[in-house]
Amino acid sequence: MTRATRAVIDLAALKHNLQISRHAAPQVRHMAIIKAQAYGHGMLRIARALDDADAFGVALIEEAIPLREAGISKPILLLEGFISEKDLILIRSYNLDCVVHHESQLKMLEAVSGDPVSVWLKIDTGMHRLGFKPQQAHDVYQRLQQCAVIRQPIHLMTHLANADDRDDKLTEQQVKIFHKAIQFADAIDRSIPCSIANSGGVLGWPVSHADWVRPGIMLYGVSPFIAGKGKEYDLKPVMTLQSELIAINQFKKGEKVGYGGSWTCPDDMPVGVVSIGYGDGYPRHARPGTPVLVNGQRVQLVGRVSMDMLSVDLREQPAALVGDPVTLWGEGLPVEEVADYASTIAYELLCSVTNRVQFDYIE
Ligand SMILES: *Cc1c(COP(=O)(O)O)cnc(C)c1O
Repeated sequence: MTRATRAVIDLAALKHNLQISRHAAPQVRHMAIIKAQAYGHGMLRIARALDDADAFGVALIEEAIPLREAGISKPILLLEGFISEKDLILIRSYNLDCVVHHESQLKMLEAVSGDPVSVWLKIDTGMHRLGFKPQQAHDVYQRLQQCAVIRQPIHLMTHLANADDRDDKLTEQQVKIFHKAIQFADAIDRSIPCSIANSGGVLGWPVSHADWVRPGIMLYGVSPFIAGKGKEYDLKPVMTLQSELIAINQFKKGEKVGYGGSWTCPDDMPVGVVSIGYGDGYPRHARPGTPVLVNGQRVQLVGRVSMDMLSVDLREQPAALVGDPVTLWGEGLPVEEVADYASTIAYELLCSVTNRVQFDYIE
């Protein structure tokens, strides 16, 4: 018998979420961000299902090549750009778009000839991770234009640092800094394509929509906002992480559960054991009290999560039986809520599901 532990990936929900992005930012192009195995959902299956996207964004060449080899022909942008001349050869032979954010890349582009490459010039407007300074933008743009290998148009982009916080003033400031930095573009050509928004920008800041938006987390049904839930934006969870009860044991008041005996039964009570643990990507730091669904009803995690199993308080589910279904997050239990209990963000939980878990794709 195989283990019931699985991640059910709802491709219809994924497509629905892209439509939510399209409704929020109409009349602009949508680059679906599918880096890190599409936030843990399986990059190729997600890319194939998102045939309505205008382009894809990944972090690395190693992520882009399998997409091309599988026959994906849409533009694919490398969000980290490239590091070496070898990368640049691959970029051109696989026809990948790349972010140019650093002088070292510019020098390599200036030194080559041959097949053209599409570039996205990245300006740092306050994230302070990747990008040229706003005052360098015009100069870098001109240098790119003089490169023999640059395909027109050159795109202009930036990335928002605090778009997860609707009250943060930085987002509007970043948009302003971006527009000021690219004022030169208006004089050259009003059609130079620009991109600012991640999911937070798409749903929270229409001023950031520009020509291209780059939604990531929202496509997977998760709210990009602090303390938000996908449902508030009509987003549907794409991944439902499931398992089953493999044991139910009665313990006496005062008996301790799990490694370290860190949790003590407050009553004589039934405790269920679920076949999933941190070896599957369930967060070890999920606190006692983290919600878990047993037969679709909420119960609480108790004790420490171990590698292959975790325990739940079944006082609210006295009729539960071995083999009953358990949901760790997804349909009926927002991953955002579980992330809170584990002191992290939904992005990390979704990315962390390991390949020991079976993935089932449904339409
Ligand atoms: C990951 C990423 C995104 C998507 O961000 P979400 O918050 O998941 O929507 C957009 N742009 C860049 C440059 C990224 O690295």
